[in-house]
Amino acid sequence: MSENLNILDVPCLTNVPAEDITTMGGTGRCKIIFLPENEKQLVFCFDFFSVNDIDFKVIGNGSNIILTKSNKVFLCTKKVKKSARCSGNTVTLPASMTVAAAYKFCQERSLSGFERLAGVPGTIGGAIMMNASAFGDCISDWLESVRILKGGKIQTIKKQNIDFSYRKSSIDGLILSAKFSLQKKDKCQIHRDFLDCVARRSQLQPKGRSSGSIFKNPPGFSAGQLIDICGLKGTNIGGAKISEKHANFIINENNADASDIEELIKLAKNAVMEKFNVSLECEVEFV
Ligand SMILES: Cc1cc2nc3c(=O)[nH]c(=O)nc-3n(C[C@H](O)[C@H](O)[C@H](O)COP(=O)(O)OP(=O)(O)OC[C@H]3O[C@@H](n4cnc5c(N)ncnc54)[C@H](O)[C@@H]3O)c2cc1C
Repeated sequence: MSENLNILDVPCLTNVPAEDITTMGGTGRCKIIFLPENEKQLVFCFDFFSVNDIDFKVIGNGSNIILTKSNKVFLCTKKVKKSARCSGNTVTLPASMTVAAAYKFCQERSLSGFERLAGVPGTIGGAIMMNASAFGDCISDWLESVRILKGGKIQTIKKQNIDFSYRKSSIDGLILSAKFSLQKKDKCQIHRDFLDCVARRSQLQPKGRSSGSIFKNPPGFSAGQLIDICGLKGTNIGGAKISEKHANFIINENNADASDIEELIKLAKNAVMEKFNVSLECEVEFV
């Protein structure tokens, strides 16, 4: 169902199933999601919700989010149309662009930086917020500045004024776009590196609906290996299952409920704590 909510005149959907807005899917639903089509609408919604104290959540591609039966208002950046720009080695990318599209845009211009990250199934906004990384490259490595909306004002923050750590950034506000300073490289070499990462990803990671890694890797350990040693690969609760291929992935096999996923998370956390005295921290966010 699509409709315009007259007061805001921004496209929105009501009673949306999780599979339409998150990669995990499942039985969760959101009551209402706004899908602005341009930056003006996005800014308007964010300001409106903030000023009116509406409990809302910004999402990109929903690839790090597990949807419960949420009462929040969702504001999705995915449909915002805004083009990427390139000047010399510098690219300015909209928050709504997928990381895969950013790779393509840069590779076509012989600019290296996104080829290892290209398999991260999120948007530029979500990837910066989560400080996404893959195969040794991190989105903040090449970042110069971020354009954000906060407190009704659009401002540009330089990278040196942002704290980035493992799957975390100190950005407070709505990311609108970001500037990256990249390296010139041979197009074919960039593409080869990309294909190599695609192959490694498909070797390591399971197919099916998921949110990627459920837990952060604790310092010095691989969360997946710890869960595997606890013998939990293949364990299922309801429609959710710890992947047989990679124990840090939970797969939504059969219309899983967020509570099934939560139970599996508890099971894995308790088992790892008991066996290794290591505390696992969730990377995914329940909303
Ligand atoms: C199969 C699979 C593989 C994955 N592999 C990796 C990997 O290799 N490396 C990795 O780091 N992650 C990986 N992930 C996790 C996920 O893709 C990343 O965290 C991604 O960066 C999230 O982007 P998103 O647009 O989907 O953000 P969402 O999941 O929609 O949101 C994530 C967070 O960012 C915030 N946010 C989103 N957009 C904005 C914005 N414009 N302004 C302000 N806040 C915003 C949201 O509020 C939320 O808190 C994987 C996920 C899957 C499903």
